[in-house]
Amino acid sequence: MSRKNDPLTIIAHADLTNRARGGIVIYLLAWLTIMLSNQVHVSSPEFFYFNTTVIVLVMLSRLAHYYIFIREFEISVSLAHDWLIYSILFGALHWGLMSCWVLLNSDHAALYAYIIVSGAVLGIAGTTALSISRRLRLWFPILIMLPSISVLFARAGTEDLIFASMGILSLIYVHVTSKTASQDYWHAIKNHALAEQRASDMERLSVTDQLTQLKNRSYFEQRFGEEWKRGDRQNQSLSLLILDLDGFKRINDTHGHLFGDECLRRVARTLDSEIHRETDIVTRYGGEEFVLLMPDTEAQQAASVAEKLRRAIADIDIEHEGVPVRLTCSIGGATVLPHHGSNRDNLFKRADHALYTAKANGRNRYQASVAGVHLVAG
Ligand code: GH3
Ligand code: MG
Ligand code: MG
Repeated sequence: MSRKNDPLTIIAHADLTNRARGGIVIYLLAWLTIMLSNQVHVSSPEFFYFNTTVIVLVMLSRLAHYYIFIREFEISVSLAHDWLIYSILFGALHWGLMSCWVLLNSDHAALYAYIIVSGAVLGIAGTTALSISRRLRLWFPILIMLPSISVLFARAGTEDLIFASMGILSLIYVHVTSKTASQDYWHAIKNHALAEQRASDMERLSVTDQLTQLKNRSYFEQRFGEEWKRGDRQNQSLSLLILDLDGFKRINDTHGHLFGDECLRRVARTLDSEIHRETDIVTRYGGEEFVLLMPDTEAQQAASVAEKLRRAIADIDIEHEGVPVRLTCSIGGATVLPHHGSNRDNLFKRADHALYTAKANGRNRYQASVAGVHLVAG
């Protein structure tokens, strides 16, 4: 089904489809039970075969809808929904008219009681099950029951009037109870959707840094563990860059904390736009430090990413009260082939140590620590 539709409509359509499943075969079974046990296929073959054909066609339409639903074909939910609803309503209308046909024909007198009872049972049970849909809740019981109730009123015999009155009472009763069932259903799925939305908002907030909107440190910790295991399993190198803004305390002291915040947001946007691989994970680790985790990345590739980021940050064009402010960063990086028994904290420590070296060597540079080999740029 198309996912473009409103999520509540999708849920309601799925629920309605499931609830309506029994109705796909129940009409044919009820019909054949009543007709074959009364030998109607022998006494009135035209009546029997015509109505059997209509019931089978409605059943096939509903089966086709159900097949499309379970196969998740790409059709719009509103089209699928209308298909189901009109198939059901057409089936109900047919049962209502077929009941009139029986009640108006004295040849079928033996069927009267069965037809009246089956209409009431199908009408009441069906409306309760289908009350999710406002259209079905209103029209299904009317189409299936009202035609025969009208005929019974028109015939106006004592028994007819008793049946017709009971039919009207049933219609009113099912209308009222199905309204409550429908309201309960819609409240429940709205609340469920709201709760799910809140849970996903909370989850997103808990891993998002509010200042920069990058992912935060706890997200990094979680993904670091996962990517470490994946690297071990797939025998792939894992690279880690720690990026720290240079002299950021002085920027804050000179231009104010609010401008410092703006710088952090600009740096975050720059990092986000410079990192294109979907598997790379960029996070604000804390303060003016950012961490980039790069699965399946060799030391040389990590060095070129680090160099690209270092340049992009040095190129940030930002000014405060007309005064251009230069931002630079130092980056420490490390690469390892994770394996069982080794410690991922060591990778972090090595990158941190390389960062310390980059700072000590004059800042605005990248320093790599790859199994004892150091690559220096800047
Ligand atoms: P270095 O080149 O050695 O990294 O020097 P530095 O000044 O960047 O490093 P230091 O650790 O001395 O200072 C980091 C500064 O980052 C201090 C703190 O005020 C600032 N900072 C940390 N978090 C935030 C923040 O959320 N907003 C702002 N505006 N500043 C922050
Ligand atoms: Mg720092
Ligand atoms: Mg710093």
